[in-house]
Formats: sequence, structure tokens, C-alpha cells
Amino acid sequence: METKIIKISEDDVSEDKFREAGQIIRDGGLVAFATETVYGLGADALNKEASAKIYAAKGRPSDNPLIVHIADVKALDELAKDVDEKTRMLAEAFWPGPLTMIVNKSDIVPYSITGGLDTVAIRMPNHRVALGLIKASGRYIAAPSANTSGRPSTTKAEHVIEDLNGKIDMIIDSGAVKIGLESTIVDMTSKVPTILRPGYITREALSDVIGEVEVDKAITEGGMVSKDVVPKAPGMKYRHYAPKAALTIVEGEEEKVIKYIEEKMAEHKKRGEKAAVMATDESMDKYSCDNVFSVGRRKEQTSVATHLFAQLRDFDDLNMEYIYSESFSRENIGQAIMNRLMKAAGGNIVRL
Ligand code: AMP
Ligand code: MG
Repeated sequence: METKIIKISEDDVSEDKFREAGQIIRDGGLVAFATETVYGLGADALNKEASAKIYAAKGRPSDNPLIVHIADVKALDELAKDVDEKTRMLAEAFWPGPLTMIVNKSDIVPYSITGGLDTVAIRMPNHRVALGLIKASGRYIAAPSANTSGRPSTTKAEHVIEDLNGKIDMIIDSGAVKIGLESTIVDMTSKVPTILRPGYITREALSDVIGEVEVDKAITEGGMVSKDVVPKAPGMKYRHYAPKAALTIVEGEEEKVIKYIEEKMAEHKKRGEKAAVMATDESMDKYSCDNVFSVGRRKEQTSVATHLFAQLRDFDDLNMEYIYSESFSRENIGQAIMNRLMKAAGGNIVRL
């Protein structure tokens, strides 16, 4: 299949720009597009054949449900039933934005996009191109991250091209995304609303609006899914976001971390193995070994969030076999950063 690549900037989202992409969605095809979190791979959410193509293109396990993207809060009442007051309050407070809510699905939502569950994940993205596409298609758009399953999510059109060129109908290039980590997922069907995947919108921010909010036990332990607790978001059980290299997170006082990593790097060099360091703007000049890269400014968490997946992909492009990453604070969006990093590392963390 030939994949058409077009550019639409957030600065110019006139209706005619979306004509062809909207038609592809209505015809049951696949379009990759930017959101504020990561790039999404979209199809008509209520068309079973169309959503089946998403699973095929990504190589995604069929029990892993998709998030349905909407452009108008009113869609909530069509896609969901028994919508409670807290759900409406969160929609009012955070939509459009990086918050996905799990609600009881209405009859029009096919089980093929919910992984057989009676619930559905819904989000209104805060990106003009995403919203423009949803409106132009006249449909609800089911869209998981636009990457090959298991690889880091895509934060630039170049990443999408790398993973999906030739497998989907269209890629809309809108440049780099703003946030760089997938949305916060909150299950609104449990007694106390529960975070199933940490993201840019923190537990504190949710609590400020609706009071008590829990975090799924499967993700509280440093971001890794434990063997004993099955996560409620099916997608969280897979090793995700993973670079090809073996990634080790090193946590502790800066001096000790740098010393440990330098020793490891020297061993790899001796053996002729390709190894790299994921450091920060603040620390990178303190290393004396080769292949030291910065993932962003430690002092500014959003800068680390934005660059994390791109940096992991860069290590793949450089054919690195081993990566050593500094560890990050788990405060605020740091919880999401460490959740993704721990998954990329398969839980491999050294505490000094
Ligand atoms: P992605 O959009 O690729 O980042 O993946 C969507 C995430 O939402 C996955 O982790 C899914 O398991 C999760 N998800 C989607 N629908 C539901 C649902 N009905 N219940 C629980 N988790 C869901
Ligand atoms: Mg994903």
C-alpha cells in the first residue's frame, strides 16, 4: 500500500485541508495524526473492519482496547451510558486535554475496539489537527499510539513513517508533539475513580476537581507491573516503549550514579559493545565516557517528557546494545516519566 504523507500545521486548519483525510476515515481507512500527547493511528471507531486494520498495522494484541477520540463533549452520551457527575466534572475541567476516561459503553460501541470489555476509553484531544480530522470525518476516531506495538510511541511524523509507512493510507505531519507521553487514563467505573496509566494530568489535579482518586495497584510500584497484580488497563501488562538495547536505570546520588555508569561504559568498550548514556543537560558534561546524550533538562520535567521516546528511538537508530539512564523524580509528571522509563527498562533498575 502506498502511504500518502501530507503536512497540516496547527496554524492553518482550514476545512479543505482535511477533505481527503476525512474521506479516508469514512471509507474505513487508516490515518495517522498528531495529538498533544503522541501521534495516533486513527480509524472510524464504529466500523469493525476499519478498527481491525489498526491492530494489523501495529501488530497489536486484540485484547488491548483502543481509545475513542471525540471532538465534542456531547459524544460522551452517545458512546457511554450511566455517565456520572464526576465524569462530567472531569470532562468539563480537562477536555480537550490529555485525559482519557473509562466509562460504561453504549450499545453502538463494538466489542472489537474494547477488547471485549463492557467499558470504553474516551478522550477529547487538545490539538487542532486532531480535532479538525475528527470533525471533517464526521465520525468518532479510535486511535492508539501510531507505533509498531512494543516500540516507543511516536512523537514526530518521522517516527510514524519509520514504523507504519506502506501499512496505512495516510500520515498527517504536524511536526513534533507538545507533551510526548500518552494520556492519563482514569477508570470512572470503579467505586473510587482509579488511575490506570499515569500521564501529564496528575492524581493531585484530578483530586482537586472530584475528591478521592486512587492509583491502580499494578502501577504504583515504581511504574512496573508486578507479577501478582493484573493491571486493569490491558495495555499496561505488555513490555512497552522498549528500545532494542538493554536499558538499565541507575538511581542514587549524582556522583555515585556517574561513577557506576562510567565503569559499566568502560567494560562495554573493552568488550567492543555499543553502549550509551541517557543523561540530562545538567549532568552530561560531567561524564568522561563517549556516547553521552541528554534527554532534556532535569529541572524542567516537561522537557524530559517531550524527548524521552524520541531519545529511545535515536538509540535504536544508532544500534546501541546497552543504555544506562539516570533516574528521575516521581513527583507530578515524573510519575508518568518513570512509569514509561521503567517499562522501557523491563523494570531493570540499579539503586546505589
Ligand atoms: P494507547 O492508545 O496505545 O496508548 O493504548 C490505550 C491504552 O488504554 C491501553 O493501555 C489500553 O489497555 C487502555 N484502555 C483502552 N480502553 C480501555 C478499557 N475499556 N479499560 C481499560 N483500559 C483501557
Ligand atoms: Mg500505545
